[in-house]
Amino acid sequence: MNYKNSRIFILIVITLVITMFFSCTKNASSDSFRDRQTYEAQEKQQKRIIIGYEKYDKALMFSNLLGGEVVLHIPELKVLSIEVEDTAEKVIQRAMENDDFSKYNIRYIEPVQNRYLEPECEDVPGLKSVKDLKDLKVNISEFVYNSYENYTGESLDLYLWNHRVVGIKDAWDNGYNGEGIVIAVLDTGVDGTNPDLEGQVTIGYRPKYDEILPEETDSSYGGSHGTHVAGIIAAKKDGVGIVGVAPRSKIMPIVIFEANGAYVGDDYTARGIVWAVEHGAKVLSNSWGGYGYSQVLKDAFDYALNSGVTVVVAAGNSTASQTFQYPANYPGIIQVGAAEFNGGNVRTANFSSGSPMITLSAPGRNILSTMPQYGSKGYTGDSFKINENGGYYGFMSGTSMATPYVAGLVALILQKYPTAKPWQVRKILEKSAKDIDFVGIDDRSGYGLAQAKALDETLPITGGSNFVVNISDHYGLWKIPGVYVSLVGTSDDGRFVRYFSKTNKDGQAKFLGIDEGTYDIFVGGPDSFESSRGLSKECYRVQEERYYSFAKKIRNEDESLDVHFNSMAFVTFDSTSYKPKRIVFQNVTKPATDSEAFIYVDFSSLTSYDFSKLSGKYNIFAQIDQPATNDITLSGKVILNGFEIPISGTITKGELETQLKDKIGKWWTVFGND
Ligand code: CA
Repeated sequence: MNYKNSRIFILIVITLVITMFFSCTKNASSDSFRDRQTYEAQEKQQKRIIIGYEKYDKALMFSNLLGGEVVLHIPELKVLSIEVEDTAEKVIQRAMENDDFSKYNIRYIEPVQNRYLEPECEDVPGLKSVKDLKDLKVNISEFVYNSYENYTGESLDLYLWNHRVVGIKDAWDNGYNGEGIVIAVLDTGVDGTNPDLEGQVTIGYRPKYDEILPEETDSSYGGSHGTHVAGIIAAKKDGVGIVGVAPRSKIMPIVIFEANGAYVGDDYTARGIVWAVEHGAKVLSNSWGGYGYSQVLKDAFDYALNSGVTVVVAAGNSTASQTFQYPANYPGIIQVGAAEFNGGNVRTANFSSGSPMITLSAPGRNILSTMPQYGSKGYTGDSFKINENGGYYGFMSGTSMATPYVAGLVALILQKYPTAKPWQVRKILEKSAKDIDFVGIDDRSGYGLAQAKALDETLPITGGSNFVVNISDHYGLWKIPGVYVSLVGTSDDGRFVRYFSKTNKDGQAKFLGIDEGTYDIFVGGPDSFESSRGLSKECYRVQEERYYSFAKKIRNEDESLDVHFNSMAFVTFDSTSYKPKRIVFQNVTKPATDSEAFIYVDFSSLTSYDFSKLSGKYNIFAQIDQPATNDITLSGKVILNGFEIPISGTITKGELETQLKDKIGKWWTVFGND
């Protein structure tokens, strides 16, 4: 890249960075602290539950059982969202205790989690009018101002440092401008009436209200953020204002932050994702995130990846190295950090979150873009109007601004390679990235700074895999849901990476479009139905859970690994304890009316019983033949996979049986054995 007078924006950017550096950092950290507190509070009070079902009619019965009212159905993902009277936490807990999940073929149940727009760093709060802009220019020597090279041909070109460092004109000059590509912006909505976005906004969707948004309208319900993001992608190349990365692409607004920026929830967002995919979006731009793995979001993004849709997600603005924010850390997506222009160099901004899974950085500090017009829904006042077109503009900073830049680049790539798979798109972005920060791949900028040179790359034939881990019991009959699976190792590009997924109802942990490489695969379970933030667990015991690891080379586009869990399980009684006549294993996944749900074992001549062959979730009862004349206390242990877990139970006077339980658990999860 060559621009005659780079001093001009070196000066500008140095000024901006130096003056605003501290306020940005401060805002970002206090925001995330506040977010966390709000998050905890909101989740506790949340009264909506997401139910992944297998059979719709049974899910409705299950919903009734919980006293819920169905508010949303996503048939593509087999998901219901219901509103409950009590808090989600309590309702899930109650359902857990009765094991209603299994009886109603429920795949998973999870609370609706909260997520946030990446808190923006207001780097240039003073620039709210044309006069401010002029003042900024006056601060730079007249000579430098007058001789700057007009890179993009737009009237606000002076401030478009982002395009320069990416070298975007090379792509445009070769005819790549995003023509024919629709990019869904999952955000606050977009003011399509901004003159620089006129004709750029296609139909959109408000999942919360199941409302289709006409093209070219104002949908900035949740504020200015989405309009800014949209301009970075697709502002018009008309000589006025600014221009986006992909000026001939179309923006599809998906409103997932409604009034006051309130997140609609993972359930409605999942519906928005499915809608976008079904209505022709080829790229999803996601400048938002939050704590906690969500199955419904994972399934929705997998739905997109499976449909060949590329997913671009902001890394976050919390500075720290993070691997627990979602959607940033789902496998197969492009995770983007924010770069700044600093002292003549481009480097990843201090606020930008790091991660071993960062794909690359893109310009994300002091980014000028479109803002909602005066009188629009999202007008916030922190913008300025230019006379040439009457449009409103403003500066913002954050990985929120870097993400749409990459989404726009993806549109250019898809214009050139319309059938490119998401992993192929990611690979050429990685390959063409300019090394910044630490030499080589690093956790701040991943492969480096995004470059328009990506368009010069040919699509790789190898390097991506749709890897699936199938987890079942010893007999291959019970596909185990909710099992954690991590891949940790070295990609074929030599990068240390880690991917995380959980098994779905078919016992499959999907890693769609990940890098081929050599990995240690860690499988732990079962923890079925455990929510990402530990709201509830199927198995409260931890130490005896099954845990396996494998070393594996992943070398094919479609590859899988079958993992069979097994168990060693004994029940025995203390020498001082009363011994029962009989012990009974009740398979809690079958109705109590089903005679096959019970297995009776004559214990009269035994001291211990090996139930390793059983697979499933079992309650254990102790029985006697005559009603107890006094309370009879039994004590012993279950030895599960070598761990001794004390159990006890009391047959009260007049009764014939008691359940044998440990301190915290109710049933025992076993997987069978030879
Ligand atoms: Ca323009």
